[in-house]
Amino acid sequence: MSLKVLKCGKMFDAENEQVLENVMVFVRDNKVEKVCPFTEEVPRDCEVVDLTDKFVTPGLIDCHVHLSSNGEANPNSTQKTLGDHAFFAMRMAQADLMAGFTSLRTVGDPGFVDVALRNAIERGEVVGPRLMVSGPCLGTTGGHADSHYNPYLTESPLAASGNIADGPDAMMKAARYNIKHGVDVLKFMSTGGVMSKGTTVGAQQMTFEEMKAVIDIANMYGVITSTHAHGTNGIKCAVKAGVTSVEHGMMLDDECIEEMAKRGTYLVPTIIAAERIIVMGSRAGIPEYMVEKAKQVLANHKNGVTKARAAGVKVAFGTDSGTPYNFHGKQAYEFELMKDFGISPLEALTCATKTAAELMRKSDTVGSITAGKYADIAAFDGDPREDITAMTRCVFVMKDGVVYKNN
Ligand SMILES: [Zn+2]
Repeated sequence: MSLKVLKCGKMFDAENEQVLENVMVFVRDNKVEKVCPFTEEVPRDCEVVDLTDKFVTPGLIDCHVHLSSNGEANPNSTQKTLGDHAFFAMRMAQADLMAGFTSLRTVGDPGFVDVALRNAIERGEVVGPRLMVSGPCLGTTGGHADSHYNPYLTESPLAASGNIADGPDAMMKAARYNIKHGVDVLKFMSTGGVMSKGTTVGAQQMTFEEMKAVIDIANMYGVITSTHAHGTNGIKCAVKAGVTSVEHGMMLDDECIEEMAKRGTYLVPTIIAAERIIVMGSRAGIPEYMVEKAKQVLANHKNGVTKARAAGVKVAFGTDSGTPYNFHGKQAYEFELMKDFGISPLEALTCATKTAAELMRKSDTVGSITAGKYADIAAFDGDPREDITAMTRCVFVMKDGVVYKNN
């Protein structure tokens, strides 16, 4: 039995979206034992960590990452074997951990390298954050998950970027195939995307019946679902079919918002993914078609996210880390962009802790610093209420009661 006491000058209380001052967090082995005021007695022989001049938060949660890429100008052009991807994914997950992200949800990596990494981390063989993983995305022939203009890759779900199927029966088989390989979430591509050459970003790519087939299998096996969706009709069908979270959701209309609010569908806005592509642009080597499509989808996004929040749609933090110039370990920049979208720093922190944990159905173990939950804790240099860039300056990381960073 080991006891660590963290002395926190400021601590984000995710359950109540408020900041507590001068509290101590008692960590017994890998769990939070209690949160109490400084006045309480500290037992002798325990390790005391001084975070009195830091801003302490629950370990952050990024609901949308790709561990097999890291900001390359055109990730579609990288040539890696699955073995390469596996080692690469380990380093990316570690970079995220060191930025304060103690939980990640992967939503599209080839060859189930994310499943293997999750398992290795859980067995304690490899250092990394808690992972909830999707394996390859499910999608249709020629759709956003397909390996565009590379048909030799397309034919094998183990080598391709996505698992391709057409029709509800084939989708069910593809969904079961991913579950057989140990995924926690089924990710499917409802519409075209920014990075897939030749797809129309707003166009629906899966039928309602195909989406419903995936979600039916997910519900049977007790896994959650996630859909890449930009275009309005694709979003609507996925929401009506019962998807857990809409990723990007950049072309929301009032009906999408109403349906999402009514059904409790989460929105993961990933503002940074489009913003990085537009800001860096084709000068930085990003293909022109990606830049044009990113502009198209970002145009309405602030308006859509604002309306969605006003209607009570739950927003969870996700960054699409891995996409062009959107680097692992640097994704806290999303907090700045959320602020530009009118989301207050504390609300953004709730998105990256409590709400993200709810999305993942992990609220009983992570998402807040609460007695009985895992001791997943981060600390930052500065107060994000005054300076949101503080979230990019992670100085302390504890996961499962173990300190991985303290400087
Ligand atoms: Zn993505």
